Amino acid sequence: MIDLVAIIREKMDRFRENVSRIATRCGRNPQEITIVIVTKAQPIEVVQAAIGAGATCLGENYPEEAQEKIRAIKADNVEWHMIGHLQSRKSKIVVELFDMLHSLDSVHLAQKLSLLCQQVNRVLPVLLQFNVSGEESKYGWHAWDESGWDTLLPELERIIALPGLQIKGLMTMPPLFENPEQVRPYFSRLRVLRDYLSRHFPNVIWDDLSMGTSVDYPIAIQEGATYIRIGEAILGPRPTKFHHRQGSDK
Ligand SMILES: *Cc1c(COP(=O)(O)O)cnc(C)c1O
Repeated sequence: MIDLVAIIREKMDRFRENVSRIATRCGRNPQEITIVIVTKAQPIEVVQAAIGAGATCLGENYPEEAQEKIRAIKADNVEWHMIGHLQSRKSKIVVELFDMLHSLDSVHLAQKLSLLCQQVNRVLPVLLQFNVSGEESKYGWHAWDESGWDTLLPELERIIALPGLQIKGLMTMPPLFENPEQVRPYFSRLRVLRDYLSRHFPNVIWDDLSMGTSVDYPIAIQEGATYIRIGEAILGPRPTKFHHRQGSDK
């Protein structure tokens, strides 16, 4: 019998060592970087094995799929992060079951979430998703052209004012390239945008940058990521019938 827990633990340990080495080499503290283990499309046995192997922060993309898993697994000491596009009519699932949302991408969604949070007396930590590449299939506020950043400010101001949400930083999903080095300009643009927003809204803590997946996390770390979202590099390939990346179905 294959011991899934042992296999995932081994991969996770090696991955963490890698992250530490990359962070240290570019003068960063490895402790600043949280690995979100992306369990989307993975069956419950794999998610449970990941938790058994010591995973404490899990990422899911699809609210209904996640809801089913989270309810079945009922794990304490595990944080669930919603990282995929969220339709506002599914907000309730996130408010009820998730610890953080990486993919906030509209004022409408923010308002809905904030209202639901107020009803249950909680505050939801969120990251604002930006499209820094101009790729049409990607969600997020359009932010590839720096000269247009000031037009984002009024909407962001409305989100900052919402009592049910706590903004923690920014998130992006760059295009997929053959050579991961090509994503660097997009990751650095997200960091520069973060610095720009910190100057405009100094009362918000814009610490977090969620960027980098299995294929490009070393570059994301070098460019300042505090969350990297890792699926296949730790859990292996996703079952193929579910195999799609965010945005592919838009
Ligand atoms: C699937 C997904 C990931 C993880 O991708 P891997 O290639 O498996 O590491 C990260 N972020 C988002 C938004 C995703 O949809």
